[in-house]
Amino acid sequence: MSTPPARPPLRPLDEALQDLLARAEPALPEESVSTFDADGRVLTQNLRSPLDVPGHDNSSMDGYALRLADLPADLPVSQRIAAGSAAAPLQPGSVARIFTGAPVPAGADAIVMQEDALVLEGGRVQIKASPTAGQWIRQRGEDVARGAVVLRRGQRLSPAELGLAASIGFDQLPVARRVRVALLSTGDELVMPGQVAPEAMPPGAIYNSNRFFLRSLLLRLGCEVSDLGIVPDDRQATVQALGQAAQAHDLILTSGGVSVGEEDHIKPAVQALGELQLWQIAIKPGKPFAYGRIHQDQGHTHFIGLPGNPVSSFVTFLLLVRPFVLRLQGGQGHRPAPLKLPAHFDWPKPDKRREFLRVRRNTEGGLDLFANQSSGVLTSAVWADGLLDVAPGQRIARGDLLPFIPLSELL
Ligand code: AMP
Ligand code: MG
Repeated sequence: MSTPPARPPLRPLDEALQDLLARAEPALPEESVSTFDADGRVLTQNLRSPLDVPGHDNSSMDGYALRLADLPADLPVSQRIAAGSAAAPLQPGSVARIFTGAPVPAGADAIVMQEDALVLEGGRVQIKASPTAGQWIRQRGEDVARGAVVLRRGQRLSPAELGLAASIGFDQLPVARRVRVALLSTGDELVMPGQVAPEAMPPGAIYNSNRFFLRSLLLRLGCEVSDLGIVPDDRQATVQALGQAAQAHDLILTSGGVSVGEEDHIKPAVQALGELQLWQIAIKPGKPFAYGRIHQDQGHTHFIGLPGNPVSSFVTFLLLVRPFVLRLQGGQGHRPAPLKLPAHFDWPKPDKRREFLRVRRNTEGGLDLFANQSSGVLTSAVWADGLLDVAPGQRIARGDLLPFIPLSELL
C-alpha cells in the first residue's frame, strides 16, 4: 500500500490572493467602446475633463435673477432666460426671469425662487424674501473643473461613471477587452437539469449547480463565457477538453476535481499541457484551489480550478476569481471595504481556518447566522446577504462587531 502524499501547508488567503494577482498578466489589450455600452468595463486610461461642468454659472430654481444692491424695490423684468439660451448682462434696476439650468446673467448675484416673488399688475416683480449672495446659483466648475482627472484607469465603470464621462463629452471610452473564459464542470456524478427528470435521477447522480452560478457570476463581471459543459472524470478526456479550451480563451475555469483523490484528474491533465499548482487555502469554505497555465504558441492561457462543493466554489469565486478577472483588465481597488456590524449570535467553536460565514442583516442592524454552514448547502448562499469574515480561531459572542462584506458588493 502506498502512503498518501504529504499535505502541503495551508496558505493564508491574503497571501494566495497576492500571488494570484501577480500572475494576472499580461493585461488584456485596450479597445474603444461606446459609453452607452461600457457598464461593468474597466478603464485603461485616466479621463481628464476638457471643460468645466457646469460650463457656466446657472440657476438651480425657476425664479428671478437680480442684483442684491437693487433691493428692496419692485423691479421690472428686463429679459427672459430659459435653459439652453444665452443671457445678456443684467440691466441695473431690473430682474431677469430665469429657469432651472439657464445661465445666470452677468451682474446678477442671487436668484429668488418664483414662490418668493409676486408679479404685480403692470409686470413689475415684488421680491418677498431677502436673498443672500449666491443663492440658488450653481457655480461654473462646481462639479468638475477643466483639466481635472474625473475617472482613473483601473476603475470599473458603473452607471454613475457613465453619466459623469458623458458630462465631460466622452461618447467612447477606452476599456480593457472582455475576458474570454472557458467554463468546465468536472464530475461523473453530474447531470444537467432538463436532461434528466428528477424522478429519473440515477443513483448517486446530482444536478450540476455550479455551472449555473459560475456562468452568471462571470457574465456579471463582463466576461465572454464559452460554456464547454461537463468533463468526465477521466485523464484522457480532461486533457483533451483542456487543450481545446485553452484555444481562444484567456482563462479556463473549472469546478471540482482539484482535491488529491484518485478521481481528481485536473492536476495531471493541466500538468501535461503546462504547469499547475494546487493550493490549500486556509479558508472555510473553499480550501482546495488550483492555479495553472496552459502553454500556447504565443503566451499562455490561465487556468483556475475551483473546489466542487457548491458553496466553496461560490465563495472562492468571489474572493479569488473575481479579483483575478478584474486585474486581467487592469482593475484596481476591487476589494470591497467591509462594514463592522454586530453579531446577533454566538459562535463558540471557531475553526483553525479563516471563515466566511453566510449571514444576513436583520432589521435591528445586526447579523443573523444561517444555521447550516456546510460547504454543500447552497441554500445558505441564497439566504445570506453577505459574508462575515471571521479570523482563524476567533470566538464570537453576541454583540461583537465583525467585518461584514455585502454580497451585493461582490456580484
Ligand atoms: P470534488 O471537488 O470533485 O471532489 O467535488 C466535491 C463535491 O462537490 C462532491 O460532492 C461533488 O459531487 C460536488 N460537486 C462537484 N461539482 C459539482 C457541480 N458542478 N455542481 C454541484 N456539485 C458539484
Ligand atoms: Mg469530482
